[in-house]
Amino acid sequence: MRSVLVPPAEHHKVLFEPIDIGPKTLRNRLYNVPHGTAYGTLRPATWASYRAARAEGGWAVVSTEFSSVDPSSDEWPLHSSDIWDEEDACRHKLMVDSVHDHGALASIELHHGGVHALRRLSREPALSASGMSSDLPPPACPPGTPKIMSRNDIERVQQSFVNAAVRARDVGYDIVDVLAGYGYLCAQFLSPFHNHRTDGYGGSLGNRARFWLETLSQVRDAVGGDCAIATRLAVETQGPWGQSIDDTVALVRMADPLVDLWDLNVGSLDWGSDISPSRVIPEGRNLELFGRVRRAAQKPVVGVSRLTSPDLMAQAVRSGLIDIVGSARQSIADPFFPQKVLEGRTEDIRECMGINHCISSLDRGNLTCAQNATSGEEFRRGWHPERFDVLARPEVSVLVVGAGPAGMEAAIGLAKRGADMVHLVDAAEHLGGHLRPVGRLSGLQEWTRFIDHRMIQIGKLPNLQFIPSTRLDADDIRDYGASHVVVATGAQWSGTGLTPGTHAPLEGVVEGADWVFTPEQLLIEGRRPVEGSQVTVYDAEGYYMGAGVAQLLADEGYKVDLVTPHAQVAAEADMTLEGSAIRDSLHGSGVAMHREVLLSAAQFGRIYGVGQFEEPFTLETDALVLVTVRVPVDGLYQELVRDHEALEEAGIEAVHCIGDALSPRPLADVTFEGHRLAREFESPNPAIALPYKREPLRLVRRGAFSDPLD
Ligand code: ADP
Repeated sequence: MRSVLVPPAEHHKVLFEPIDIGPKTLRNRLYNVPHGTAYGTLRPATWASYRAARAEGGWAVVSTEFSSVDPSSDEWPLHSSDIWDEEDACRHKLMVDSVHDHGALASIELHHGGVHALRRLSREPALSASGMSSDLPPPACPPGTPKIMSRNDIERVQQSFVNAAVRARDVGYDIVDVLAGYGYLCAQFLSPFHNHRTDGYGGSLGNRARFWLETLSQVRDAVGGDCAIATRLAVETQGPWGQSIDDTVALVRMADPLVDLWDLNVGSLDWGSDISPSRVIPEGRNLELFGRVRRAAQKPVVGVSRLTSPDLMAQAVRSGLIDIVGSARQSIADPFFPQKVLEGRTEDIRECMGINHCISSLDRGNLTCAQNATSGEEFRRGWHPERFDVLARPEVSVLVVGAGPAGMEAAIGLAKRGADMVHLVDAAEHLGGHLRPVGRLSGLQEWTRFIDHRMIQIGKLPNLQFIPSTRLDADDIRDYGASHVVVATGAQWSGTGLTPGTHAPLEGVVEGADWVFTPEQLLIEGRRPVEGSQVTVYDAEGYYMGAGVAQLLADEGYKVDLVTPHAQVAAEADMTLEGSAIRDSLHGSGVAMHREVLLSAAQFGRIYGVGQFEEPFTLETDALVLVTVRVPVDGLYQELVRDHEALEEAGIEAVHCIGDALSPRPLADVTFEGHRLAREFESPNPAIALPYKREPLRLVRRGAFSDPLD
């Protein structure tokens, strides 16, 4: 849907001033920095289409994820877009051409992992500055002592960077970005923690910088006339890596003549400080540090800091803290962010929530986004981030029951496809379903950006009406007059402590007993245990809810024990880079944490279970909060579909069940499902997803198969 176009707000205009970097000119100040997708060169059509959507959305530069330069840094099964040979180069060309088609520059991030390289396919020894083992624990990194790089190794790896840069130039990349951050090989040389060498590559800061400086210089000599040269550098690293901002300023002065652009981030292996979750780190936290680098540099600076607000972005550029706004997550959530700012449609931006679903999904092998269901589906399912096909038969009236994430997403999609009338009905007073109370948990306020965005869109769609505070039963639905019904009634936490590890409820737990609580009862109904009493939270799920309610109760003055069957509290939150912050906070609030305990029974005053070695476990408690599994609320759907005749009589052509009511899942998955139903509403059987396109197996050359963007 397009509103009347207006020019960008005066205070955003600075974001649309072109800027030169070396031989290239950026069309604006919005730079889609390197970030993983897990598609890479292994799924080149998916990858090219995903990147091209960001180019089409107006980003000035679209970058690859880390692109390994050499088999000694084979990163499979992680998400590298390798550039070792001509075959790889062909795959890159598809991406580069697709990005160029939309007027953006293409950048490649050249990478060598050093001691952190996985090397599963190449089976080569790990290379290192001075034989220091990886500080990543297994299984993140395999155990072993890496080979100390000889002068020959150094020359060989530097030559790999040069060869990769030449290949990148030859397939049309505009920017070659040498990765010196994230604790990989260049950063290992820079850090006294990893670099104990006594030759010219170790010792003083200048010596430790030599590997990186020589690499930059050689890459510049090889392709500097054709490509802009950038380098990604952390402005500060925490813990033993110990690179201070003063060190960084000194490094920047050394390398400034060799680069055309500084690509700045923060942190090394502590990804959580760079890919910062919204629960921990506020937007824009790194800007002052970037400003210090910028004052020391002659060359422009692009910096990332979980920026999502065009106001703050413009202010950062105007005040000279950065020249160019770097963005990964905002570009995932809304590829068309630049175009929306340019057209003065900031209210249409799908703002990144900082929940880091992107990180957990890409580490599991396929980048997806909780805000943007189309991310990664541009080729596979042909979904455009902004455009919907009009329904072949728009004369439908759709009743969506349940305005949680799945219901909202389906209703908006159907309204955007031009359905005559969509009614979104909820028993609750507000939109949002299970997500609304999540915003009351400590640090999770930004998660409700999901609802804010959809509330604005619903308000703009004349054929979509939200009807609050209305609980519908099967008769109401049949009498409603809708031609199609979508049931999105969500899920409820088990009130009996049904546990994944036992597939049984907790013995002795009576649902609704005054000493037993579910998250809904705490967060929606406002029920509480006796003030100041001892409360046990049993978290068999292991994501944000168990830890969230434990924190809430501790903050309210309860004495809290958190019991989990998992090896780590909030284990899933480690995938989203939130785990250690959650545990630190619980610990600081006096929450006692009991891991690897599987509960089997509970009674008022006491809980029972077994520990890791089958030893008995018991704990006194006044109240028990059950965060175990979510159970679908699908009774309404079952009742409707049981009586086909009644549906026919009512003129209802189809009833669909989506979201948590079908199968309780993470936010991204139920959002995807709502979106998919809208996109595939007229398919022969919308309950089953249409087959999606797989990667062509033949060698990928542009023109050798139909353009994925067509
Ligand atoms: P999902 O995550 O699948 O979108 P949610 O649990 O977030 O599901 O949302 C389900 C929504 O459905 C809740 O807001 C709830 O109030 C609403 N709901 C459940 N049953 C009914 C009903 N019978 N009539 C109207 N709304 C309902």
